[in-house]
Amino acid sequence: MGDGIEPGAFDRNKIRITVHPQQVDVWYWLIPFSDGRSSIGVVGRSEVLDAAGEDPEARLRAFVSQESSLARLLRHATWDTPVRQISSYATDVAALHGPGFALLGNAGEFLDPVFSSGVTIAFTSSSLAASCVDRQLSGHAVDWEREFAIPLRRGIDTFRCFVEAWYEGTFQRIIFHPHPNAEIRRMICAVLAGYAWDERNPFVQAPARRLAALAELCA
Ligand SMILES: Cc1cc2nc3c(=O)[nH]c(=O)nc-3n(C[C@H](O)[C@H](O)[C@H](O)COP(=O)(O)OP(=O)(O)OC[C@H]3O[C@@H](n4cnc5c(N)ncnc54)[C@H](O)[C@@H]3O)c2cc1C
Repeated sequence: MGDGIEPGAFDRNKIRITVHPQQVDVWYWLIPFSDGRSSIGVVGRSEVLDAAGEDPEARLRAFVSQESSLARLLRHATWDTPVRQISSYATDVAALHGPGFALLGNAGEFLDPVFSSGVTIAFTSSSLAASCVDRQLSGHAVDWEREFAIPLRRGIDTFRCFVEAWYEGTFQRIIFHPHPNAEIRRMICAVLAGYAWDERNPFVQAPARRLAALAELCA
């Protein structure tokens, strides 16, 4: 869309993620481009989105109108791009490697776009695989499961715990808490910034348990 966002109203170097004011598992992205255009989208359970009508553009515009900060930012927008929809975008595979192949990035796993894990997973899988391929081509025995798949899945599973907490609504309780603890905030931000493999971080060591306990405290 031509976003029509007024200069200074929004930091165009940042992607904006917002949450529906009533339905905590419905979220929006606004990705600004350099030419006054943006990508806008809404994510939610299909029964929630479907209830807003059949026409995808009308549905998206209805959801945007319900989130006041987005509605204000986009009040001069030109909706000139056909609105598309996809369902079940998360993907998983039975095996990340096999004779003569290893699956990297989106080809191996696509979790969910909410926390920008895609590029981190793509780079980490490439880096792990490159080291295995290098050693294999040098004639060394490589245990792809132990040296590639297991370490890769460790970080993916950390991200997955955060994604699941988001759709349960408990993660919103944590990040929107009015009095965040600076140290915990730092640990959580580190995971979301891609350090999902850093075992020194308690939220990497035991993400599900830590997030559940913290959500209880924030209730
Ligand atoms: C709008 C949008 C915003 C995103 N924002 C973020 C973000 O902020 N942070 C983040 O971490 N992730 C983000 N992602 C996800 C991220 O882009 C992907 O997870 C990441 O690029 C995956 O890397 P990849 O190398 O696995 O796949 P890709 O980057 O998709 O690369 C695959 C390449 O293979 C090529 N290709 C496909 N088929 C063939 C073929 N048959 N022959 C030859 N080449 C082929 C494609 O053209 C493409 O260049 C975003 C994705 C989208 C669509």
